Amino acid sequence: MKACFMSKRSAEVVFACAVFSLVFAGQGVCKPRVRDEVKIPDVGGYLTLACDFHMHTIFSDGRVWPEIRAEEAWREGLDAFAITEHIEYQRHEKDVRTNHNRSYEIAKGSAESLRLVIIKGAEITREMPPGHFNAIFLKDANALDVEEWRDAIKEAVEQKAFVWWNHPGWRGQQPDGKSIWYEEHTELYKKGWMDGIEIVNDDEYYPLAHKWALEKKLTMIGGSDVHTPTGLNYDFHTGEHRSMTLVLSKEKSEGAIKDALLNRRTVVYWRKNLIGEEKYLRPIFDGSIEILNPEVTIKGKGSAYVQILNKSEVDFELESAGEVEEISAPGSVTLYGEKVNLLRIRGKKEDVSGEKEMRLAYKVKNLWVGPEEGLRAELVIKVNLVPAKKK
Ligand SMILES: [Zn+2]
Ligand SMILES: [Zn+2]
Repeated sequence: MKACFMSKRSAEVVFACAVFSLVFAGQGVCKPRVRDEVKIPDVGGYLTLACDFHMHTIFSDGRVWPEIRAEEAWREGLDAFAITEHIEYQRHEKDVRTNHNRSYEIAKGSAESLRLVIIKGAEITREMPPGHFNAIFLKDANALDVEEWRDAIKEAVEQKAFVWWNHPGWRGQQPDGKSIWYEEHTELYKKGWMDGIEIVNDDEYYPLAHKWALEKKLTMIGGSDVHTPTGLNYDFHTGEHRSMTLVLSKEKSEGAIKDALLNRRTVVYWRKNLIGEEKYLRPIFDGSIEILNPEVTIKGKGSAYVQILNKSEVDFELESAGEVEEISAPGSVTLYGEKVNLLRIRGKKEDVSGEKEMRLAYKVKNLWVGPEEGLRAELVIKVNLVPAKKK
């Protein structure tokens, strides 16, 4: 009798679930929405915010509705983003009314409900020179819709925007993809109308622009410039991420992000590489790495394992940058992200003894302090050397 009652209840539950699923199907009730955090440590009292300040929607030549940009940003672990529609080019103008502020207005509610910072921006889209410029922290993007490119950039500057030169090595505007700095760029730079430069755009990296950024003290920017849904551009299930700018910011707010950008506190995250000034890359590396057993004992020419935790999501590719007298360590090693990695070190002599702090010097090949120039870093281990045979 009891068993019969139970099975009736089970059937009711199944029926209720089926009705619930039918009623709510399509309303997202049962669909998981999951955020994949960008795992790179905070440094020097600043938050490391994941940001993308370059993307498009159907309000210029993109393929998505603005609210989708907010959802993508949240799912991909961003903290802040800007939609930067072309002022001068609207691919869908027969279907979509011209209003350069509109994508921001539409995406704002979604962004805020997901606790994302959304910043109003636009892309001034001109022939080379000077090419394309992004302006963010705008008050009114429609005011940039003017005849002369100088007037458009001047208007952005008067609105106290942060302005940068986009994709300076883009093949569509530069011969053979070479980055050429024109007189017009000198003019903008001297007027203080160029705050930054893209050293990365989508899947492209521009070494010369990277050099200029360091020499001229321009803020380094990396943007996705995505036009399609991001899932069509990046293979997320293989661990790919969009090209982005990491902003070292006092807090997660529009004002603090602007302060960080004006003070060049950025690191560009492109493919498996972090690109930025040494003063930021070093604490990111040091803050990611933890040696779990910083003291080991080696008997004569025997070996010991050092366990190294990499808390970040970036796989650090290390290459030896110098020998240590008493021990040998691998010439190259990868410290995989979010893993504990084993480093095997060996004694070089049978009869040495004593406790010593060893500094294993490496170049981190994918942390670029200059154009494709790796950061020098050290792994510090205390080694207790014991002679192989005690007499
Ligand atoms: Zn562009
Ligand atoms: Zn663009």
